[in-house]
Amino acid sequence: MKLGITGGKGGTGKSLVSTALATELGKRGKKVLLVDADVDCPNDDLILSIERKKIDDIKGKIPVFDSKKCTKCGKCSEHCMENAIVFVKNRTPILVKEQCTGCGACSLACPVGAISYDTQNIGAIYKGEKDGITLLTGEIKIGFEEASPIVHALMKKATEIEKEFDYVLVDTAAGTHCNVISALVGVEHAFAVTEPTPLGEHDVQLILKLLDVLGISKNLILNKAGIAESEKVEEIAKKFNAELVGKIPYSKEIRKKYSLGEAISGKEIEAIADAVEVLK
Ligand code: SF4
Ligand code: SF4
Repeated sequence: MKLGITGGKGGTGKSLVSTALATELGKRGKKVLLVDADVDCPNDDLILSIERKKIDDIKGKIPVFDSKKCTKCGKCSEHCMENAIVFVKNRTPILVKEQCTGCGACSLACPVGAISYDTQNIGAIYKGEKDGITLLTGEIKIGFEEASPIVHALMKKATEIEKEFDYVLVDTAAGTHCNVISALVGVEHAFAVTEPTPLGEHDVQLILKLLDVLGISKNLILNKAGIAESEKVEEIAKKFNAELVGKIPYSKEIRKKYSLGEAISGKEIEAIADAVEVLK
C-alpha cells in the first residue's frame, strides 16, 4: 500500500512522522520502502542514521550553441522563461547551466538551427537500508533550481520496486506545488501533518483541498500538540472529513531524539501505525 506523508507548511514534522511510522511498521515485521521526495533538502537518512549509496545519476538536457551557425539575433534569450541565456549584442549567447530546465524553447525559437543539446548531471538517487526499512532519496545538485526531473526520476524508481514492500511511505516536500503533486501520484491514502499555529492551520487546509482534488483519502496528524489549543485543527479535520489520528506532543525528549538522529517512538506513533494497518 502506498501512503503519502504531507502537510502544506514546512517544518510541521513530515519527516519526523515518516521516519517514526516507517520504524514502527518495521518493528511490526512489515517491509517498508520510505521515499524521501523532498529533493531540495532530504533528511530522512539523517534522522534514521541510514548510510545511503548513490544508485543513479539524473541527467538533464542543456542547449549548446553553434557559434558558426549563430547569427547573434538574441531570439533564444528572449524566449527563455528561466533567464538562463545571457545575450550580449553581436556575441554568441552564454548559458547559465544552473538556471536551465532543459525545456527546449530556445532551440524552437532559433531561426537558423544553431542550438543542439548535450546532457548534464542535475542530481542523483540514493538508496540505503536499515532494520527492515529501505530508503530511497533523490537530491538535486547544489546550485540547480528545477527539482521536478529529480522527483520524477525518484518516483519512477520507487514504482519499479514498490511490489517488494508491504508499505511505501512517500515523505513529500512542503507546499502544494507540482513536485508535491508528482510525489502524491499513485498514493492511496495520505496523512497531512500540521501544527497548532495560524500558518499551520492555514496551509494544511490547502493540502487537504489538494488531496480532495486528487481524489486521495486522508487523515490528519497534529504535531507539536500542546503549544496552543488544538480546537481549530479539530474543526479543520471535521470540515474536510478527515479523522485526527495522532497527536504528537511538543516535548524535550522528542526534540532530543530528533537532534541525535533517532526516529521517535511511543504510544502516539503506535496509534498512527494502527491507523495505517486498519487501511489495508
Ligand atoms: S532549454 Fe529552456 S530553460 Fe534551458 S536555456 Fe533553453 S529555453 Fe532556457
Ligand atoms: S536564436 Fe539562434 S541564432 Fe539567434 S542568438 Fe540564439 S542561437 Fe544564435
